[in-house]
Amino acid sequence: MGETIALKLRVSGIVQGVGFRPFIYRVAVKNGIKGYVKNLGGSEVEIHAEASLTNILSFLKALTVEKPPPAEIEILEIEEAQPKMFKKFDILKSGRSPKMFSMIPPDIGICDNCLREILDRNSRWYMYPFNSCAWCGPRFSMIEKIPYDRENTSMRDFPLCENCLNEYGDPENTRRFHAQGISCPKCGPKVWLVNNSGELIETKDPIGYAAKLIDEGNIVAIKGLGGFHIAALATDDEVVLTLRERKRRPQKPFALMALNIDVTKKIAYVPKEAEELLLSPQKPIVLLPKKECALISEYVAPGLNTIGIMLPYTGLHYILLISTKDKYLIMTSGNPKGKPMCITNDCALNKLSKYVDYILLHNRRIVNRVDDSVVRLTLGKPVFLRRSRGYAPKWLTLPIEVKNPIVAFGAELATAGAILIRNRAILTQYIGDVDDYETLEFMDEALKFLCRTYRINPNEAIYVSDIHPYYATTRLAEEYADKYGSVHLRVQHHHAHIVSVMAENYMKPSEEVVGIAIDGVGYGIDGKIWGGEVLIASYGGFKRFGHLKYQLMPGGDLATKYPLRMLIGILYSIFDEEEILRFLSKTNLVNKLRYGVRELGAIMYQLKSKTAPETSSTGRFLDAVAALLGICFERTYEGEPAMKLEAYAKKPEGDSEVEAKIVYEKGEYIIDTSELMLRIIEKLEEGIDKRIIAYQVQYALGKAFGKVAIEAIKTYMLKPLIIVSGGAAVNDIILKAITDVAKEGDVEVYVNRKVPPGDGGIALGQVAIAAYSFAYEES
Ligand SMILES: [Zn+2]
Ligand SMILES: [Zn+2]
Repeated sequence: MGETIALKLRVSGIVQGVGFRPFIYRVAVKNGIKGYVKNLGGSEVEIHAEASLTNILSFLKALTVEKPPPAEIEILEIEEAQPKMFKKFDILKSGRSPKMFSMIPPDIGICDNCLREILDRNSRWYMYPFNSCAWCGPRFSMIEKIPYDRENTSMRDFPLCENCLNEYGDPENTRRFHAQGISCPKCGPKVWLVNNSGELIETKDPIGYAAKLIDEGNIVAIKGLGGFHIAALATDDEVVLTLRERKRRPQKPFALMALNIDVTKKIAYVPKEAEELLLSPQKPIVLLPKKECALISEYVAPGLNTIGIMLPYTGLHYILLISTKDKYLIMTSGNPKGKPMCITNDCALNKLSKYVDYILLHNRRIVNRVDDSVVRLTLGKPVFLRRSRGYAPKWLTLPIEVKNPIVAFGAELATAGAILIRNRAILTQYIGDVDDYETLEFMDEALKFLCRTYRINPNEAIYVSDIHPYYATTRLAEEYADKYGSVHLRVQHHHAHIVSVMAENYMKPSEEVVGIAIDGVGYGIDGKIWGGEVLIASYGGFKRFGHLKYQLMPGGDLATKYPLRMLIGILYSIFDEEEILRFLSKTNLVNKLRYGVRELGAIMYQLKSKTAPETSSTGRFLDAVAALLGICFERTYEGEPAMKLEAYAKKPEGDSEVEAKIVYEKGEYIIDTSELMLRIIEKLEEGIDKRIIAYQVQYALGKAFGKVAIEAIKTYMLKPLIIVSGGAAVNDIILKAITDVAKEGDVEVYVNRKVPPGDGGIALGQVAIAAYSFAYEES
């Protein structure tokens, strides 16, 4: 034993509500450390450790290596302290410093230990659907206020029984000591099954019975952790089609839940990165390449070569899945069409009963609705399509610190909001399409919850929205600003997308970078619809350096719903009326218009009368290509034509020969999409495989974006990096092309990895821009 040395450690990150203190206690005792550990009221833990140098070193190593799976160490500060000759190691009572604030812990998927107990006949938790511990279980979805203590969650409805209470009070019990959410069959929530008229089904095993009903072809709503799912066989065409008909959801893919990783590998290819994600404590839905031989109805994800799969993240899900014959099921979100997902038993009984035959209920209240997160791999690395359960409302630390809090309202479709308090940006869970009033109310509630939790004074807050005058969120921000006599800042859509990448990469506010926004639609500062933009951007502002050529959208929103209209809009920039008719007849596309030639007449009229809006949207261009290649004629969900185009594409052998022309006009670089469309038509006429054409056009588009971005770097002598964001920034082919161009110029490519590149991540950009626009300090 050497001389005693002492260290004071401050650990921040996800270190509260995850069994971190009992863990510290255990490794401290194991390594002969004396001293104490305590919560500091914020998201911080303080440790005083004294021992010999050898022991201290092995303790420090264990601290980072052996930490509980859901714990995340963001910052570890170590300073030397005076040895105080402690006799033992203690867990001290929490300090409550009013200056600090706690992180609302995200929900954590069931851990292996809890699962083992569920499967162990001799365990108290055998087949217990709500088993959880310090390392796992619901958090955000059941929390009413912070700090995360049982009485502040919906588990307060279930007082601990004697056994549970003993374990709760036992510091030697690593997984249950001070674990706020624990329960057992004796004291915890209960499950029951009803039919769609709400009548109780008598059974001792409601979960097993629900599984049997599903196996027989019934559709069953399941109350889960952050809301309801609708479960059904994924292998039976008739069942899947019935579900589609009842939900009036003709094409949008359904997610699956598979019992475990082995079952997943039978139906999908699982790259290593995807496997890690599937098994992570967050347990998101991961989009995986579907196996050709997989027994999955083709109606589960029509026209796509990927399938969204998640693993069971609660005991209830696990018990349900293990009781089914297939070991994987459709588990789609249980929401009335266009509305937020149901979270109450009443909502399920009143609104889901028309879609389902039975409903599996339980009596733990869901406080915060939280949808499943969705992740895909782009260029082999995870990207969020939806950041919600498991991740929200975890905060991100920004390089900007503000005095006044900021509240951001996001965009319109598949969006989320955010707040910024000091240098912590907190995104809400996934909200959805706020063109629906109830969904807008959900946005309002979710933001109010964050404001209340983090004690934001609404009079002091700054409210941020998109510049789009007709977004419901713009109006909501305005209402807030009016009501509290505060500032309302409007931020351009694609500027916010680019800055979201800067913010998550901790780029300094003084930096200026080039960003590519490949997107559906966003309101431009010239009043036109943007969506294929190369911007020179900083937190403080942006300059438009280049964009896709403006094309007409005959019928406005109709051109979004029916991609063939968009194609005709583009053809109008190439051909005259007669040539368009001849082309559409020759290719038989005219019959794909809902009203045939008659509709074409109306479209031509809209084009000639100059009433059609103009757009530089990447999404709309891809939609038009999808129509041209006969892949998609009606968009029934967001991104459908572009997603199907990506799925359809096949990489040609050798280099892609299609290039997009870039012209310099009035100080801007214009990527000529008319010319590119003409090239594709020529390829089609040459008889080239349509799948190869699909690849070539996406690659050409990405390459052109990359070239314009490189030009921007040269012109403005910017840092050698390109930021890519926007809803289409998950497209593998476009991203590959941009990266290839960047590589040639020794330029790095940054995309969103912490928030979705689509409108679910836009609020991060909004808060960062607002932070810069008002008083801030670089931190
Ligand atoms: Zn557990
Ligand atoms: Zn109990």
